Amino acid sequence: MASKWNCSLAVGMLLFSNAATCGADWAIVLHGGAGTMPKDQPQETIQAYRAALNDALQRGRNILVEGGSSLDAVENVIRTLEDHPLFNAGRGAVFTHDATHELDASIMDGRTLACGAVANVTTVKHPITLARLVMERTSHVLLAGPGADRFATEVGVDRVQNEYFSTENRRRQLDDAQQRQRVKKQADPLKDSSLQRSDERYGTVGCVALDRHGNLAAGTSTGGLTNKRAGRIGDSPVIGAGTYASNATCGISATGIGEEFIRHAVAFHVSALIEHAGKSLDEAADLVLTQRLPPGAGGIVGIDAAGNIVCRYTTAGMYRAWAKSDGRHDIKIWD
Ligand code: ASP
Repeated sequence: MASKWNCSLAVGMLLFSNAATCGADWAIVLHGGAGTMPKDQPQETIQAYRAALNDALQRGRNILVEGGSSLDAVENVIRTLEDHPLFNAGRGAVFTHDATHELDASIMDGRTLACGAVANVTTVKHPITLARLVMERTSHVLLAGPGADRFATEVGVDRVQNEYFSTENRRRQLDDAQQRQRVKKQADPLKDSSLQRSDERYGTVGCVALDRHGNLAAGTSTGGLTNKRAGRIGDSPVIGAGTYASNATCGISATGIGEEFIRHAVAFHVSALIEHAGKSLDEAADLVLTQRLPPGAGGIVGIDAAGNIVCRYTTAGMYRAWAKSDGRHDIKIWD
């Protein structure tokens, strides 16, 4: 069920060359989570997802066309998706077991390997921006919980009440997950069955971009998994698991069962296979997703240093969109 399309840049193709910039090629890919809704959705629902993906893609694309940085493109794309209630990041984030929201995000600069991340933030409107500020204004990589919220106050990012992130749809998913949990608990009182069904696991957002200066960046933002325990942190804010970028290899953003992506250091694993085993991005992504992760664990999007794009998943679908300076672009949900 894995899907792929892998496009090579034609060397010297400068269709979008712009006198104000170096005129080099750029590429961008984003995801809105692996494990999509069933296919028999009303057209309006499908169109709403496509429109949201397109809106985010255009924002990133415009930054790259103008010669802006991949970091700016990644941050802006993810902020747009964090504002969109359809996705499990920012507004629209899933609920924890305690019916609250705890958000995770990370960002990485492939030029310098600088990176920043936040975990379990509860009142930050755009966790990806706070992650970038951790990278740019502290000597740390990852701030979590009340300390991260305090840092948000210090740097003055937009704040909201925790309920701002809530939507009816996510509340229904929590109710369903807890109902199933009660049934399972009766059958096996010792088993921890707090996580949700794979077909409900969707909406984490991520983006990878290559700018005209040859720099890669990657970022990921999520509310995590429905009905997760308070304090649970997934792969999205873990550099090397949910996010990784190095100009020497590739940028990666992942989505899926965070525990598996941490266990297999997925984003770094793909990069390491390119660097140390001579694999292409496509081969490396395929190997990690199909030979390391359990079936149906999730998906990744990535771009390598030459601008090749990969979108690979082992779920029924993955919300995704990409564009390149040669004019090609696509938005897809299923195969
Ligand atoms: N990877 C995220 C997490 O485990 C969830 C997702 O991508 O759907 O927190």
